[in-house]
Amino acid sequence: MKYIGAHVSAAGGVQNAPVNAHNIGATAFALFTKNQRQWNSPPLSDKTISSFKENCSKYGYGSNQILAHDSYLINLGHPEADGLKKSREAFLDELTRCEQLGLVTLNFHPGSHLNKMSETDCLKTISESINWVVSKTLTAVPVIENTAGQGTNLGFQFEQIAEIIDQVDDKTRVGVCIDTCHAFSAGYDLKSEDGFRKTWQQFDSVIGFKYLKGMHLNDSKKLFSSRVDRHESLGAGTLGIDIFRRVMEDSRFDGIPLILETPDDSRWSEEIVLLKSFCRQ
Ligand SMILES: [Zn+2]
Ligand SMILES: [Zn+2]
Repeated sequence: MKYIGAHVSAAGGVQNAPVNAHNIGATAFALFTKNQRQWNSPPLSDKTISSFKENCSKYGYGSNQILAHDSYLINLGHPEADGLKKSREAFLDELTRCEQLGLVTLNFHPGSHLNKMSETDCLKTISESINWVVSKTLTAVPVIENTAGQGTNLGFQFEQIAEIIDQVDDKTRVGVCIDTCHAFSAGYDLKSEDGFRKTWQQFDSVIGFKYLKGMHLNDSKKLFSSRVDRHESLGAGTLGIDIFRRVMEDSRFDGIPLILETPDDSRWSEEIVLLKSFCRQ
């Protein structure tokens, strides 16, 4: 079973996200559980929490169909003590919010070394951040998203993600989300049939499919291996439509949220219809 949706708005409160997802015909969704551009947000009220849960059950969204995304400000590999502390505390708040909402997975961009520490040290810091936040929570799983490798962002190579996982103490509390646009921009040829097969072979041998907790389905505005992160609507970019057909036909991507983060939200419902049409019955 494929769960297909988009990163929907939670404006007016997280309880609106499942409604927005339902309105575009989604069987999965992603959301921010707080304002993604601010460090602090008020705690979730009991009313908001129960209303979110009610709407999820009303529209048939189980926790395995929902992928929360953290704030863009957080850098769990921050090279400086103050920045790292602030990021870890903010991430703990986000993971706690997920647990309050009954969500299992929280997707984050691994971190940036800001040219102030080595890659190896930054990856180790990210793992230590995961260990710290996991020790202070009960069930929710931090999910590492691969990046395009823009600037000093790490996590653009499968080996870097594997190095983070390797240093996480509790392997049941870490996962991976692959963003197709980021992977293509980072130099993984997901466009050709052969490239698709080889990329996933490599993913499985370096990281392992058991860690795959979600996917972001985005076409790319930029060229292969450009290391630039610019999403495009499906089929309108440099990746093309075939990759999305291949994902839908492949049972390795069953049972996890498959999330559109394409820029034109007025096209989401038709993109979802298209993706569903690719699924083998
Ligand atoms: Zn992301
Ligand atoms: Zn993404």
